[in-house]
Amino acid sequence: SGVVLEVRGLDVEYATGDDPVRACVDVSFTLHRGEILGVAGESGSGKSTLITALTRLQRPPAVTSAGQLLYHPRDGGPPVDLVTLSGRELRRLRWTTLSIVLQSAMDALNPVMRVGAQFVDALRTHDRRLDKRAAWERAAELLGMVGVSADRARAYPHELSGGMRQRASIALALACRPDLVVMDEPTTAVDVVMQRQTLAQVLRLRRELGFAVVFVTHDLSLLLELADRVAIMYAGRIVELGTSASLYEEPRHPYTRGLRDSFPPLRAPLRRLTGISGSPPDLRRPPSGCPFHPRCGQRFDGCDERLPVLRDVGGNDVACHLYPEGS
Ligand code: SF4
Ligand code: MG
Repeated sequence: SGVVLEVRGLDVEYATGDDPVRACVDVSFTLHRGEILGVAGESGSGKSTLITALTRLQRPPAVTSAGQLLYHPRDGGPPVDLVTLSGRELRRLRWTTLSIVLQSAMDALNPVMRVGAQFVDALRTHDRRLDKRAAWERAAELLGMVGVSADRARAYPHELSGGMRQRASIALALACRPDLVVMDEPTTAVDVVMQRQTLAQVLRLRRELGFAVVFVTHDLSLLLELADRVAIMYAGRIVELGTSASLYEEPRHPYTRGLRDSFPPLRAPLRRLTGISGSPPDLRRPPSGCPFHPRCGQRFDGCDERLPVLRDVGGNDVACHLYPEGS
């Protein structure tokens, strides 16, 4: 299938204080149409920053300081670099091309408008020939797809439960047939349960509507279950990227192995990294060489001096000196 987004050498910095925090460093990957890419890592690994930067929604002090986000339009036209678009051009793409579902998705609905009317507005802004009646029908259909019964289209957001509001917000994010949907993880345990259902729902819709998804979570078991491919981030960099199956069965990077071994076999959110000692580095002063070296049980001479770059290791991309060029 075709490519929808090419991320090339993306750097995102927080320009606060004397030392800028490099939250994403030289991040590159290619996303295919309809593909689900999960991004995992501990808190502070840069995954939420990456998600926000992908949709160009970051606000100062976060700044995209280098790199390209090449969006390939559906009609086969030349790729567009989202990094260089104006705010106005970006707004034109929002919802129709790029949709974002954040932790606070349920707050995306306008509290003083009937839920269905918000769909009608979005749909008719996107397609001016669509008449009101057809738009209401489409709204009911979209709500039905996320398990909200059609009669709720006439309700106000406060008349829906939190879970229903979240699902309605997601349906709204999908209403204009975006090519790419990005989703960030919830922060509370209750939300984690909901996220699992919500994600499963979104992924089912992906089959019907064909959008690609990038989603972020620290729940590696959820990723391995739902994503086609997974990117593991550490200290702002992708350290391994591969299919879910390969990361589960044969993780190559010592950090990926530690993450995998941190998970109990049952489905549970990450509480402790039992497989990895130590804590993530201070991104204002990242370690020299391989950023994982202070915690790595397999480090050897040179790991603290030379930065490993991502390279193909048996089909996965891995950044670790255990796998030298040509191995
Ligand atoms: Fe460990 Fe060295 Fe590989 Fe870094 S490069 S993950 S320190 S073995
Ligand atoms: Mg986060």
